[in-house]
Amino acid sequence: MNNRVHQGHFARKRFGQNFLNDQFVIDSIVSAIHPQPGESVVEIGPGLGALTLPVAAKMDRMTVIELDRDLAARLETHPQLQNKLTIHQQDAMKFNFAQLAEQEGQALRVFGNLPYNISTPLMFHLFSYTQAIRDMHFMLQKEVVNRLVAGHNSKTYGRLTVMAQYYCNVIPVLEVPPTAFTPVPKVDSAVVRLVPHTTLPHPVGDVRVLSRITTQAFNQRRKTVRNSLGNLFSVEQLIELGIDPTMRAENISVAQYCKLANWLSEHPQQQESEESL
Ligand code: SAM
Repeated sequence: MNNRVHQGHFARKRFGQNFLNDQFVIDSIVSAIHPQPGESVVEIGPGLGALTLPVAAKMDRMTVIELDRDLAARLETHPQLQNKLTIHQQDAMKFNFAQLAEQEGQALRVFGNLPYNISTPLMFHLFSYTQAIRDMHFMLQKEVVNRLVAGHNSKTYGRLTVMAQYYCNVIPVLEVPPTAFTPVPKVDSAVVRLVPHTTLPHPVGDVRVLSRITTQAFNQRRKTVRNSLGNLFSVEQLIELGIDPTMRAENISVAQYCKLANWLSEHPQQQESEESL
């Protein structure tokens, strides 16, 4: 049998389709989410419903966002799901989560076995809606989960780590082997829980400045920050802000990046050009 065919559906690579087939893994994810009736639960990429069915069984209704037209059509006529789902057949990267939370009158609980090809930009999209989100549970490549949970001074610590931890408390939940999926992916996977901070521990005045500094620092991660951030901060300014100029991007904590961003926002003349933010 073709190993890309699952429940009569030919898995589409361009949509990052790897369907969960392992009941133990499915049950573990659902108990980690712990959905309760009355909550506003949203699934990204329900696919053939491996997670949707057990979650919907606990709910009166839930929302799903599925880009693949054929899969959305299957869900529309699914005997156990059709009366419970509000289906948005569209790209989750363009979905307005704030509008949905407003309609629902409460913060959203978002989850999904994410298409790996777009998981990082999709998380950045979701970070812009953290005020509308109560929590998120995602299946990702294990390597991405390692980056999300990393502490500074580690090789896996990067821009994604800083931005994720700026917005959220990040908790690893479960490791998942390739055999739990059809078709079998080449990489290990893991589930992570992201809980947006109700009060940001290190608020910045302008998150675009934080984004710019981290992009610049990690694009040149082998350089010392006196070099990689040299056009934004003098050595004296770095020292004044408590940052050793001989450190590299991975040695600077989230709190320190936020301190740099706030200093720069307060001294806009230091920025080469506003447009590059
Ligand atoms: N949830 C199912 C499971 O666990 O078996 C399917 C997971 S599969 C890894 C990813 C799902 O996301 C697929 O159903 C795919 O069609 C859908 N998808 C891909 N890109 C998407 C996008 N941009 N917006 C919404 N859904 C997308």
